[in-house]
Amino acid sequence: MTVIAGARIQSTQGLLESGWMNIEDGVIVSGGLGECPLPVDDELAGYTIVPGFVDQHCHGGGGYSFITTDAAEAYRAAEAHLFHGTTSLMASLVTGSAEDLADQIRTLSPLVDQGVIVGIHLEGPWISRLHCGAHDKALLRAPDRSEVGELLALGGGRIKMVTIAPELRGGMEAIEQIVNAGAIAAVGHTDADYEMTCLAVEAGARVATHLTNAMRPLHHRDPGAIGALMEDKRVTVELIGDGTHVHPAVLRLVAAEAGFNRISMVTDAMSAAAGKDGHYMLGNLDVDVVGGVARLTDGGSIAGSTLTMDKAMRYMVFSGHVALWNVVKMLSNTPARTLGLADRGGLAIGKRADLVVLDNALQVARVMRQGNWIELPG
Ligand SMILES: [Zn+2]
Repeated sequence: MTVIAGARIQSTQGLLESGWMNIEDGVIVSGGLGECPLPVDDELAGYTIVPGFVDQHCHGGGGYSFITTDAAEAYRAAEAHLFHGTTSLMASLVTGSAEDLADQIRTLSPLVDQGVIVGIHLEGPWISRLHCGAHDKALLRAPDRSEVGELLALGGGRIKMVTIAPELRGGMEAIEQIVNAGAIAAVGHTDADYEMTCLAVEAGARVATHLTNAMRPLHHRDPGAIGALMEDKRVTVELIGDGTHVHPAVLRLVAAEAGFNRISMVTDAMSAAAGKDGHYMLGNLDVDVVGGVARLTDGGSIAGSTLTMDKAMRYMVFSGHVALWNVVKMLSNTPARTLGLADRGGLAIGKRADLVVLDNALQVARVMRQGNWIELPG
C-alpha cells in the first residue's frame, strides 16, 4: 500500500487541488480531496500528478532501438522513455525483409509478455514509395496475404497495429485481414486520395499514422488522406508534437476539427531520443541528429523524432498554448482508449497506478508504474 497526498491531481474529472490517492497492488483503490484519512507515504505538496503517458508510436530512445534482435537493447529503449514518464509504449518496427521483421518480432514478443512494451507496431513494409519517409525504399512492397498472415500469426496477438497504404495492390484486403486478426489497421505513409481513404476506414482502419507527415498533402480540391482521416469520428489521429514535424498552426487546426479525444500525441522517436546529437541508425538507414532534429544522412528527410512524451507535453502547453488537461488527454487518455488499454489512461479509482509527478516547470520529478516508483537516473 502506498499513500500519496498533497499534490494537484489531474484526474479524468478535472484538476483536483490537494488530492490524495491510495494505491494497492498496482491499482488506485481510493482517493479524494483535502485531508488524507490514511498515514501518508509520499507528501507531494507543490507537485502535479498526471496519468502515465501512453506512446503508441515509438522506435527507440536513449541510444537504443526496438529495431533489433537484442532484447536487452529493446528493454533499454523502453526504459529510456519510462524515465520521461511513458509508462505504456508501443514498439514500432520499420520496413524490413520478412526474415528481419520475423526476427525482430521474436525478440520483442517476450517484452510484450513482461509488460515492458504494450505491443508491436509494423509501420512498414506495406507503404507508399512516394511517402516512405525514413523507410528503406528497396524493401517496400504491396501487402501479400500470406506474408501479412504469417507475421501476424508469429506475433500471436502481440502485433497491435499495422500501418498500410490502402492504395497498394491488396491494401484494402490487408486492412480487413489485420482487423480480423484483432489488430488495429492504421492508414499512413500513403498517397491515397480522399475517397480511397474513406473506403479504408469503412474496411476497418481506425488510426492515422502521424497525420500530415508522409501523406499526400491536404489541398482544397484534393483533401486526400488527411482530410478523410481528420473528418471521420471513428479515427484516432496520431500527431508528432515537437513543432518540427507539424507546424503549431496545423496542430491547432487538427485539434479544432478532431478534438483532443481523437488525437494521440506520439513521439515517433528513434534511438537518439533522450540522447545526444550525433550519428545513429534507423533500421538500415544512416541518420544524423543535429540540434535535436533527426534527418537521413542521404537526402535529408526527417527521420523520426528525438522527442519524449514529457517534451511533447511541455511543447503543447508552453508553445501550443493548450491547457494541461487537454494535453493529458492526447498523451494518455486517447492513446490508452485507442489501444484498448481500459485499465490505464487516467487517474481514477480502479485504474492502474501509472503516474507522472511534475514540478512547476512540468519537468518529470517522479514516475510510478503499476504502483512502483521508478528509480530515475541522475
Ligand atoms: Zn514511425
